[in-house]
Amino acid sequence: MDKTNTYAMGTQTVRAGEEALFADNATQVPVVHSVSFGYDDMNEWLEVSQGKRPGHIYTRNTNPTVDVFEEKVRVLEQGEAATSASSGMGIISNALFALLAPGDRVVSVKDTYGGTNRLFSEFLPRQKVEVCLCDTVDFEAVEAEVAKGCDVLYLETPTNPTIKILDLERLASAGKAVGAVVMVDNTFATPINQNPLLLGADLVLHSATKFLGGHADALGGVAVGSKELISTINSYREIVGNVLDPMAAYLLLRGMKTLSLRIERQNANAMEIARFLEGHPGVVQVNYPGLTSHPGHDIARKQMRGFGGVLSFVARGNTYEDACHVLSRLKLARRAANLGAVESIAGTPATTSHVECTPEERQAMGIPESLIRFSTGIEDVEDLKADLDQALR
Ligand SMILES: *Cc1c(COP(=O)(O)O)cnc(C)c1O
Repeated sequence: MDKTNTYAMGTQTVRAGEEALFADNATQVPVVHSVSFGYDDMNEWLEVSQGKRPGHIYTRNTNPTVDVFEEKVRVLEQGEAATSASSGMGIISNALFALLAPGDRVVSVKDTYGGTNRLFSEFLPRQKVEVCLCDTVDFEAVEAEVAKGCDVLYLETPTNPTIKILDLERLASAGKAVGAVVMVDNTFATPINQNPLLLGADLVLHSATKFLGGHADALGGVAVGSKELISTINSYREIVGNVLDPMAAYLLLRGMKTLSLRIERQNANAMEIARFLEGHPGVVQVNYPGLTSHPGHDIARKQMRGFGGVLSFVARGNTYEDACHVLSRLKLARRAANLGAVESIAGTPATTSHVECTPEERQAMGIPESLIRFSTGIEDVEDLKADLDQALR
Protein backbone atom coordinates (compact mmCIF):
# COMPACT_ATOMS: atom_id res chain seq x y z
CA MET A 1 0.00 0.00 0.00
CA ASP A 2 1.06 3.54 -0.65
CA LYS A 3 2.51 5.04 2.51
CA THR A 4 1.64 8.55 1.35
CA ASN A 5 -2.05 7.92 2.05
CA THR A 6 -1.51 8.89 5.67
CA TYR A 7 0.26 12.14 4.83
CA ALA A 8 -1.31 15.58 4.51
CA MET A 9 -2.03 16.98 1.05
CA GLY A 10 1.09 19.14 0.81
CA THR A 11 3.19 16.01 1.25
CA GLN A 12 1.00 13.90 -1.03
CA THR A 13 1.28 16.35 -3.92
CA VAL A 14 5.06 15.94 -3.77
CA ARG A 15 5.40 12.23 -3.03
CA ALA A 16 2.26 10.23 -3.83
CA GLY A 17 2.82 7.69 -6.59
CA GLU A 18 6.55 8.39 -6.47
CA GLU A 19 7.55 6.37 -3.41
CA ALA A 20 9.54 3.73 -5.24
CA LEU A 21 12.85 4.36 -6.93
CA PHE A 22 12.79 3.80 -10.66
CA ALA A 23 15.25 2.09 -13.00
CA ASP A 24 18.89 2.91 -12.20
CA ASN A 25 17.72 4.38 -8.86
CA ALA A 26 16.34 7.50 -10.56
CA THR A 27 14.49 9.58 -7.98
CA GLN A 28 12.32 11.23 -10.67
CA VAL A 29 9.78 9.41 -12.80
CA PRO A 30 11.26 8.44 -16.17
CA VAL A 31 9.27 9.27 -19.29
CA VAL A 32 8.75 5.82 -20.76
CA HIS A 33 8.16 6.43 -24.45
CA SER A 34 8.24 2.74 -25.28
CA VAL A 35 5.02 1.59 -26.93
CA SER A 36 5.53 -2.10 -26.12
CA PHE A 37 7.04 -4.07 -23.26
CA GLY A 38 8.95 -7.25 -24.07
CA TYR A 39 9.05 -10.64 -22.33
CA ASP A 40 11.55 -13.50 -22.63
CA ASP A 41 9.34 -15.76 -20.55
CA MET A 42 6.18 -16.69 -22.50
CA ASN A 43 4.36 -17.66 -19.31
CA GLU A 44 5.07 -14.29 -17.67
CA TRP A 45 3.88 -12.51 -20.84
CA LEU A 46 0.64 -14.49 -20.76
CA GLU A 47 0.02 -13.77 -17.08
CA VAL A 48 0.68 -10.02 -17.49
CA SER A 49 -1.61 -9.83 -20.51
CA GLN A 50 -4.34 -11.64 -18.56
CA GLY A 51 -3.92 -9.21 -15.67
CA LYS A 52 -2.83 -11.98 -13.30
CA ARG A 53 0.46 -10.30 -12.57
CA PRO A 54 1.49 -6.61 -12.66
CA GLY A 55 3.26 -5.26 -15.72
CA HIS A 56 2.72 -3.52 -19.03
CA ILE A 57 2.02 -4.87 -22.50
CA TYR A 58 1.26 -1.94 -24.81
CA THR A 59 1.02 1.80 -24.08
CA ARG A 60 -2.54 2.14 -25.39
CA ASN A 61 -3.52 -0.08 -22.43
CA THR A 62 -1.14 1.05 -19.68
CA ASN A 63 2.19 2.88 -19.40
CA PRO A 64 4.50 3.28 -16.36
CA THR A 65 4.72 7.12 -16.51
CA VAL A 66 0.96 7.45 -16.98
CA ASP A 67 0.40 5.03 -14.08
CA VAL A 68 2.33 7.29 -11.69
CA PHE A 69 0.26 10.31 -12.74
CA GLU A 70 -2.99 8.39 -12.18
CA GLU A 71 -1.75 7.17 -8.81
CA LYS A 72 -0.93 10.67 -7.58
CA VAL A 73 -4.43 11.94 -8.40
CA ARG A 74 -6.00 8.77 -6.95
CA VAL A 75 -4.29 9.40 -3.60
CA LEU A 76 -5.32 13.08 -3.57
CA GLU A 77 -8.96 12.27 -4.39
CA GLN A 78 -8.99 9.33 -1.95
CA GLY A 79 -10.52 6.78 -4.31
CA GLU A 80 -9.82 3.13 -5.12
CA ALA A 81 -8.58 3.50 -8.68
CA ALA A 82 -7.85 6.10 -11.37
CA THR A 83 -7.83 6.36 -15.17
CA SER A 84 -6.63 9.09 -17.52
CA ALA A 85 -7.20 10.36 -21.06
CA SER A 86 -5.72 12.75 -23.61
CA SER A 87 -7.64 15.80 -22.29
CA GLY A 88 -10.40 16.83 -19.92
CA MET A 89 -12.98 16.31 -22.65
CA GLY A 90 -11.30 12.96 -23.33
CA ILE A 91 -11.87 11.70 -19.80
CA ILE A 92 -15.43 13.06 -19.66
CA SER A 93 -16.19 11.31 -22.99
CA ASN A 94 -14.53 8.05 -21.95
CA ALA A 95 -16.55 7.99 -18.74
CA LEU A 96 -19.94 8.88 -20.28
CA PHE A 97 -19.65 6.65 -23.35
CA ALA A 98 -18.27 3.71 -21.35
CA LEU A 99 -21.03 3.83 -18.75
CA LEU A 100 -24.10 4.77 -20.83
CA ALA A 101 -26.13 2.75 -23.33
CA PRO A 102 -29.09 3.58 -25.60
CA GLY A 103 -32.24 4.13 -23.54
CA ASP A 104 -30.34 5.45 -20.51
CA ARG A 105 -31.09 8.81 -18.93
CA VAL A 106 -28.68 11.51 -17.74
CA VAL A 107 -29.65 14.30 -15.38
CA SER A 108 -27.36 17.33 -15.20
CA VAL A 109 -27.40 21.11 -14.95
CA LYS A 110 -27.34 23.91 -17.54
CA ASP A 111 -24.03 25.44 -16.41
CA THR A 112 -21.63 22.60 -17.16
CA TYR A 113 -18.44 23.25 -19.14
CA GLY A 114 -19.21 24.17 -22.78
CA GLY A 115 -17.72 20.96 -24.25
CA THR A 116 -19.63 18.80 -21.77
CA ASN A 117 -22.78 20.69 -22.67
CA ARG A 118 -22.21 19.81 -26.34
CA LEU A 119 -21.98 16.11 -25.41
CA PHE A 120 -25.34 16.51 -23.66
CA SER A 121 -27.04 18.49 -26.41
CA GLU A 122 -25.63 16.72 -29.45
CA PHE A 123 -23.55 13.54 -29.09
CA LEU A 124 -25.37 11.63 -26.33
CA PRO A 125 -28.86 12.17 -27.83
CA ARG A 126 -27.45 10.81 -31.10
CA GLN A 127 -26.73 7.56 -29.18
CA LYS A 128 -30.36 7.55 -27.92
CA VAL A 129 -29.36 8.66 -24.45
CA GLU A 130 -31.91 11.04 -22.95
CA VAL A 131 -30.40 14.12 -21.28
CA CYS A 132 -32.31 16.37 -18.87
CA LEU A 133 -30.64 19.67 -17.96
CA CYS A 134 -31.97 21.46 -14.88
CA ASP A 135 -31.54 25.00 -13.66
CA THR A 136 -28.12 24.82 -11.95
CA VAL A 137 -29.04 25.96 -8.46
CA ASP A 138 -32.63 24.64 -8.35
CA PHE A 139 -31.72 21.57 -6.27
CA GLU A 140 -35.37 20.56 -5.86
CA ALA A 141 -35.76 20.41 -9.65
CA VAL A 142 -32.63 18.24 -9.92
CA GLU A 143 -33.94 15.92 -7.18
CA ALA A 144 -37.33 15.66 -8.90
CA GLU A 145 -35.76 14.77 -12.26
CA VAL A 146 -33.42 12.24 -10.63
CA ALA A 147 -36.36 10.59 -8.90
CA LYS A 148 -38.02 10.01 -12.30
CA GLY A 149 -35.16 7.65 -13.18
CA CYS A 150 -31.53 8.40 -13.79
CA ASP A 151 -28.49 6.34 -14.81
CA VAL A 152 -25.92 9.13 -14.55
CA LEU A 153 -26.20 12.27 -12.44
CA TYR A 154 -23.56 14.64 -13.78
CA LEU A 155 -22.50 17.61 -11.63
CA GLU A 156 -19.89 20.36 -11.74
CA THR A 157 -19.08 22.87 -8.98
CA PRO A 158 -17.99 25.67 -8.94
CA THR A 159 -19.37 26.25 -12.44
CA ASN A 160 -17.89 28.10 -15.37
CA PRO A 161 -18.05 31.11 -15.85
CA THR A 162 -20.78 32.16 -13.43
CA ILE A 163 -19.14 30.39 -10.44
CA LYS A 164 -22.34 28.82 -9.07
CA ILE A 165 -22.16 26.29 -6.22
CA LEU A 166 -24.00 22.95 -6.19
CA ASP A 167 -24.76 21.11 -2.95
CA LEU A 168 -22.80 17.91 -3.60
CA GLU A 169 -23.82 15.96 -0.50
CA ARG A 170 -27.52 16.65 -1.07
CA LEU A 171 -27.52 15.89 -4.80
CA ALA A 172 -25.25 12.84 -4.52
CA SER A 173 -27.62 11.31 -2.00
CA ALA A 174 -30.53 11.88 -4.41
CA GLY A 175 -28.53 10.12 -7.14
CA LYS A 176 -27.63 7.25 -4.84
CA ALA A 177 -31.27 6.70 -3.91
CA VAL A 178 -32.09 5.75 -7.51
CA GLY A 179 -28.84 3.86 -8.19
CA ALA A 180 -27.37 6.50 -10.54
CA VAL A 181 -23.63 6.86 -11.06
CA VAL A 182 -22.87 10.29 -9.60
CA MET A 183 -20.11 12.08 -11.55
CA VAL A 184 -18.54 15.37 -10.49
CA ASP A 185 -16.24 17.57 -12.57
CA ASN A 186 -13.85 18.88 -9.89
CA THR A 187 -11.61 20.90 -12.23
CA PHE A 188 -12.33 24.32 -10.68
CA ALA A 189 -11.97 23.23 -7.05
CA THR A 190 -9.04 20.76 -7.35
CA PRO A 191 -8.58 18.00 -4.72
CA ILE A 192 -6.83 20.54 -2.50
CA ASN A 193 -10.12 22.43 -2.00
CA GLN A 194 -12.79 19.74 -2.46
CA ASN A 195 -13.08 15.93 -2.50
CA PRO A 196 -16.41 14.93 -4.13
CA LEU A 197 -15.92 11.22 -3.37
CA LEU A 198 -15.99 12.03 0.34
CA LEU A 199 -19.30 13.87 -0.22
CA GLY A 200 -20.97 10.86 -1.84
CA ALA A 201 -19.95 11.03 -5.52
CA ASP A 202 -18.98 7.83 -7.38
CA LEU A 203 -16.61 9.32 -9.93
CA VAL A 204 -14.57 12.53 -9.81
CA LEU A 205 -13.28 14.00 -13.08
CA HIS A 206 -10.60 16.60 -13.85
CA SER A 207 -9.32 18.52 -16.79
CA ALA A 208 -5.70 18.09 -15.64
CA THR A 209 -4.85 20.73 -18.26
CA LYS A 210 -5.95 23.39 -15.78
CA PHE A 211 -4.92 23.51 -12.11
CA LEU A 212 -3.42 20.01 -11.78
CA GLY A 213 -0.76 20.66 -14.42
CA GLY A 214 -0.84 24.36 -13.62
CA HIS A 215 1.54 25.59 -16.31
CA ALA A 216 -0.67 25.62 -19.43
CA ASP A 217 1.79 23.38 -21.28
CA ALA A 218 0.11 19.94 -21.34
CA LEU A 219 -3.37 18.58 -22.03
CA GLY A 220 -4.75 15.74 -19.93
CA GLY A 221 -7.78 14.34 -18.14
CA VAL A 222 -8.15 12.03 -15.14
CA ALA A 223 -10.95 10.30 -13.22
CA VAL A 224 -11.01 8.59 -9.81
CA GLY A 225 -13.59 6.14 -8.46
CA SER A 226 -14.25 2.53 -7.52
CA LYS A 227 -12.18 -0.28 -9.09
CA GLU A 228 -15.30 -1.48 -10.86
CA LEU A 229 -16.16 1.86 -12.52
CA ILE A 230 -12.55 2.54 -13.50
CA SER A 231 -12.19 -0.93 -14.98
CA THR A 232 -15.31 -0.38 -17.14
CA ILE A 233 -13.90 2.94 -18.37
CA ASN A 234 -10.48 1.39 -19.04
CA SER A 235 -11.86 -1.43 -21.14
CA TYR A 236 -13.59 1.20 -23.30
CA ARG A 237 -10.42 3.36 -23.40
CA GLU A 238 -8.23 0.48 -24.60
CA ILE A 239 -10.37 0.13 -27.71
CA VAL A 240 -11.24 3.77 -28.41
CA GLY A 241 -7.59 4.70 -27.84
CA ASN A 242 -8.27 7.97 -26.02
CA VAL A 243 -5.17 7.77 -23.80
CA LEU A 244 -2.77 10.18 -22.09
CA ASP A 245 0.62 10.58 -23.75
CA PRO A 246 3.57 9.68 -21.44
CA MET A 247 5.29 13.04 -22.02
CA ALA A 248 2.10 14.91 -21.09
CA ALA A 249 1.77 12.64 -18.02
CA TYR A 250 5.30 13.66 -17.00
CA LEU A 251 4.61 17.39 -17.42
CA LEU A 252 1.39 17.08 -15.42
CA LEU A 253 3.20 15.13 -12.66
CA ARG A 254 5.92 17.74 -12.50
CA GLY A 255 3.31 20.48 -12.23
CA MET A 256 1.42 18.61 -9.53
CA LYS A 257 4.36 18.65 -7.14
CA THR A 258 3.57 22.30 -6.44
CA LEU A 259 -0.24 21.90 -6.56
CA SER A 260 -0.78 22.44 -2.86
CA LEU A 261 1.47 25.54 -2.77
CA ARG A 262 -0.10 27.01 -5.89
CA ILE A 263 -3.68 26.48 -4.75
CA GLU A 264 -2.98 27.99 -1.34
CA ARG A 265 -1.66 31.10 -3.09
CA GLN A 266 -4.40 31.17 -5.73
CA ASN A 267 -7.13 30.81 -3.08
CA ALA A 268 -5.66 33.77 -1.18
CA ASN A 269 -5.11 35.92 -4.29
CA ALA A 270 -8.63 35.26 -5.62
CA MET A 271 -10.21 36.09 -2.24
CA GLU A 272 -8.36 39.39 -2.04
CA ILE A 273 -9.13 40.31 -5.65
CA ALA A 274 -12.82 39.42 -5.19
CA ARG A 275 -13.04 41.74 -2.16
CA PHE A 276 -11.20 44.47 -4.06
CA LEU A 277 -13.48 44.21 -7.08
CA GLU A 278 -16.60 44.15 -4.90
CA GLY A 279 -15.74 47.65 -3.72
CA HIS A 280 -14.71 48.96 -7.15
CA PRO A 281 -16.90 51.56 -8.93
CA GLY A 282 -16.12 50.01 -12.33
CA VAL A 283 -17.66 46.67 -11.31
CA VAL A 284 -21.36 45.84 -11.07
CA GLN A 285 -21.19 42.30 -9.69
CA VAL A 286 -18.54 39.84 -8.44
CA ASN A 287 -19.03 36.06 -8.44
CA TYR A 288 -16.76 34.31 -5.94
CA PRO A 289 -17.93 31.70 -3.41
CA GLY A 290 -15.62 33.09 -0.74
CA LEU A 291 -17.65 36.32 -0.60
CA THR A 292 -20.46 36.33 1.97
CA SER A 293 -22.59 38.02 -0.73
CA HIS A 294 -22.38 34.85 -2.91
CA PRO A 295 -25.67 32.86 -2.80
CA GLY A 296 -23.73 29.59 -2.51
CA HIS A 297 -21.35 30.80 0.21
CA ASP A 298 -22.74 28.61 3.01
CA ILE A 299 -22.71 25.46 0.87
CA ALA A 300 -19.19 26.27 -0.32
CA ARG A 301 -18.04 26.67 3.29
CA LYS A 302 -19.54 23.29 4.11
CA GLN A 303 -18.00 21.33 1.23
CA MET A 304 -14.80 23.22 0.29
CA ARG A 305 -11.57 23.79 2.19
CA GLY A 306 -10.74 26.81 0.02
CA PHE A 307 -12.79 28.74 -2.53
CA GLY A 308 -10.54 28.30 -5.57
CA GLY A 309 -8.63 30.52 -7.94
CA VAL A 310 -11.37 31.48 -10.42
CA LEU A 311 -13.79 34.39 -10.11
CA SER A 312 -15.89 36.33 -12.56
CA PHE A 313 -17.19 39.88 -12.55
CA VAL A 314 -19.51 42.08 -14.55
CA ALA A 315 -17.90 45.28 -15.78
CA ARG A 316 -19.91 48.50 -15.67
CA GLY A 317 -21.95 48.96 -18.83
CA ASN A 318 -23.60 45.87 -20.16
CA THR A 319 -22.13 45.21 -23.57
CA TYR A 320 -19.48 42.93 -24.94
CA GLU A 321 -17.53 46.09 -25.83
CA ASP A 322 -17.44 47.12 -22.16
CA ALA A 323 -15.74 43.81 -21.29
CA CYS A 324 -13.36 44.23 -24.24
CA HIS A 325 -12.33 47.71 -23.09
CA VAL A 326 -11.30 46.35 -19.70
CA LEU A 327 -9.63 43.23 -21.08
CA SER A 328 -7.60 45.05 -23.70
CA ARG A 329 -6.12 47.34 -21.03
CA LEU A 330 -4.92 44.54 -18.75
CA LYS A 331 -1.12 44.32 -18.72
CA LEU A 332 -0.54 41.26 -16.52
CA ALA A 333 -3.37 38.80 -17.09
CA ARG A 334 -3.18 36.97 -20.35
CA ARG A 335 -6.16 37.16 -22.66
CA ALA A 336 -6.60 33.47 -23.43
CA ALA A 337 -9.04 30.54 -23.37
CA ASN A 338 -7.54 28.76 -20.39
CA LEU A 339 -7.52 28.83 -16.60
CA GLY A 340 -5.74 27.35 -13.62
CA ALA A 341 -2.19 28.28 -14.61
CA VAL A 342 0.53 30.07 -12.60
CA GLU A 343 -0.17 33.22 -14.62
CA SER A 344 -3.44 35.09 -14.33
CA ILE A 345 -5.73 34.62 -17.32
CA ALA A 346 -8.80 36.66 -18.25
CA GLY A 347 -11.42 36.15 -20.91
CA THR A 348 -15.05 36.59 -21.85
CA PRO A 349 -17.59 33.75 -22.19
CA ALA A 350 -17.98 34.80 -25.85
CA THR A 351 -14.32 33.95 -26.54
CA THR A 352 -13.84 31.08 -24.06
CA SER A 353 -16.42 28.86 -22.34
CA HIS A 354 -19.49 29.84 -24.40
CA VAL A 355 -17.96 30.57 -27.78
CA GLU A 356 -20.54 28.36 -29.53
CA CYS A 357 -23.54 30.35 -28.22
CA THR A 358 -25.17 33.48 -29.65
CA PRO A 359 -25.39 36.61 -27.43
CA GLU A 360 -29.12 35.86 -27.02
CA GLU A 361 -28.40 32.30 -25.87
CA ARG A 362 -25.81 33.55 -23.35
CA GLN A 363 -28.30 36.10 -22.06
CA ALA A 364 -30.89 33.32 -21.66
CA MET A 365 -28.34 31.29 -19.69
CA GLY A 366 -27.85 34.23 -17.33
CA ILE A 367 -24.41 35.14 -18.68
CA PRO A 368 -24.10 38.93 -19.08
CA GLU A 369 -22.18 40.12 -22.17
CA SER A 370 -19.84 42.20 -19.99
CA LEU A 371 -18.89 39.24 -17.77
CA ILE A 372 -15.15 38.69 -17.38
CA ARG A 373 -13.73 35.42 -16.07
CA PHE A 374 -10.54 35.92 -14.10
CA SER A 375 -8.32 32.94 -13.26
CA THR A 376 -5.96 34.13 -10.58
CA GLY A 377 -2.33 33.17 -10.92
CA ILE A 378 0.41 33.11 -8.31
CA GLU A 379 1.70 36.64 -9.06
CA ASP A 380 1.99 39.22 -6.31
CA VAL A 381 -1.58 40.20 -5.49
CA GLU A 382 -0.78 43.93 -5.19
CA ASP A 383 0.40 43.92 -8.82
CA LEU A 384 -2.76 42.11 -9.92
CA LYS A 385 -5.02 44.56 -8.06
CA ALA A 386 -3.17 47.58 -9.48
CA ASP A 387 -3.46 46.14 -12.98
CA LEU A 388 -7.21 45.51 -12.62
CA ASP A 389 -7.66 48.96 -11.10
CA GLN A 390 -6.03 50.81 -14.02
CA ALA A 391 -7.93 48.66 -16.55
CA LEU A 392 -11.28 49.40 -14.90
CA ARG A 393 -10.80 53.18 -14.69
C1 LIG B 1 -11.29 22.95 -19.52
C2 LIG B 1 -12.35 22.18 -18.86
C3 LIG B 1 -12.76 20.94 -19.35
C4 LIG B 1 -12.17 20.34 -20.61
O1 LIG B 1 -10.80 20.08 -20.45
P1 LIG B 1 -9.77 19.98 -21.68
O2 LIG B 1 -8.52 19.52 -21.03
O3 LIG B 1 -9.65 21.36 -22.27
O4 LIG B 1 -10.34 19.01 -22.65
C5 LIG B 1 -13.74 20.26 -18.67
N1 LIG B 1 -14.32 20.76 -17.55
C6 LIG B 1 -13.96 21.97 -17.05
C7 LIG B 1 -14.64 22.48 -15.83
C8 LIG B 1 -12.97 22.73 -17.68
O5 LIG B 1 -12.64 23.92 -17.18
